[in-house]
Amino acid sequence: MIKVLLVIFVGLLVWLSQSPGQVEINWFDYNVILTPQWFLILLATCTLTLYVLISLKFRWQLLRAKWSFKKQMKKSQRTEDLILEGLAAVASRDVLGAKKILSKLDESQCQTPFGLVFAAQTAMLSHDVHGAENAFKKLADIPQTQLMGLRGLAMQKVAQGQTALAHSLVESTLEKNPKSPWALQTAFELEVRGRSWAKALITLKKLSRLQELSHVDRTKALLMFELAMTAPTPKEVLKLLSQAHTLAPSHGPIATAYAQALMKDKQDKKARRVLAHCWALAPHPMLADVYIENASFDPLKQFSHMQDLYQKVPESWISQMVYAHYAIKAQLWGIARPQLEALVKEKPFKSIFADLIHMEDALGHVAQMRALMATSAEHALPNPAWHCMSCGHTSEAWFTLCPQCEGFDTSAWQSSSMHSVLRTPDQHLLLPETAVN
Ligand SMILES: [Zn+2]
Repeated sequence: MIKVLLVIFVGLLVWLSQSPGQVEINWFDYNVILTPQWFLILLATCTLTLYVLISLKFRWQLLRAKWSFKKQMKKSQRTEDLILEGLAAVASRDVLGAKKILSKLDESQCQTPFGLVFAAQTAMLSHDVHGAENAFKKLADIPQTQLMGLRGLAMQKVAQGQTALAHSLVESTLEKNPKSPWALQTAFELEVRGRSWAKALITLKKLSRLQELSHVDRTKALLMFELAMTAPTPKEVLKLLSQAHTLAPSHGPIATAYAQALMKDKQDKKARRVLAHCWALAPHPMLADVYIENASFDPLKQFSHMQDLYQKVPESWISQMVYAHYAIKAQLWGIARPQLEALVKEKPFKSIFADLIHMEDALGHVAQMRALMATSAEHALPNPAWHCMSCGHTSEAWFTLCPQCEGFDTSAWQSSSMHSVLRTPDQHLLLPETAVN
């Protein structure tokens, strides 16, 4: 600016030096005649005044912008403090506190990504489904918080049982970010609930490439087991069950299903090897039943087979219980009695009482039999069965997916009255808690 003025000034000087005499200015009705020196002084004064005025205006604008920025910063800081306070209230599940803080925020403060996260959390905490959905939708529209919004919406739909909608939200998330762990995890959960075992297996493989998963082999084995149940050919069934058994050799129901498939295929020896191997890792009556009853109908021979199994894990109460049961069947009272009498003190199940009563009845010990019947009626615990660890659903048969709560791999073999959980080794829940409502 100054350079331009200097150039103009120098130009004028040159012009005046070439134009001696007086300078006449006509402005409306005014006629001013000046010497070149005075004209120069007047011009310089006007230019200087103009420069000072422009510079003052500029400084004023700068001051105003600074003041407005400071005010804005102060407001942002206050909003940030309020939201932080609100999130702390949400974390401590203080619904009233969170709502009170939310009411202090105006519309524009609630529309920031931070404000929307807080609004969504507060709505979820106070079970305001509509409010949470609104906030999640807005978060999904902001590029930086899009995944957060989609996740919130998908979780809501899962909690509401709207699996088709949840699935489409998860799929649109995976289109944008194919490596989103939560989206893959939710997709897996939805596929399992929808019994899409093949899809779930693919999703699980993707997920396991992204992060460490606990018990991933067992989960794969369960999915393969379910796939085998609907496999089109016996060859395919055998292949899938073989893979499942290799991944989870201690899983009784898988080993049993594999052994039965092998027996159908006339591979009895291999079937017994599979059952015995699983028994040694985690004994279960179903393994012994298939192992023994397929081998012989003769109770003495059956007991001899049971003895082979028992010797693999004599310290296990399940092994002792099944061993004593086959001793009773073979009328080997001398072997059965000490086992059952010791067991009934620790595990007073109905089946153990039943074996004892059967023995005393067969031996003609009426008084002992009656006494046992009375004790059993009063104190016997229900026989162990498969219980869902999430909802308590009970079934004689093992289940991958709970028929009541749709929990995946939640079944454990135990007595409903027992306090200790008798889950088979490695039993777990793969899926995290995702309910958002
Ligand atoms: Zn359940």
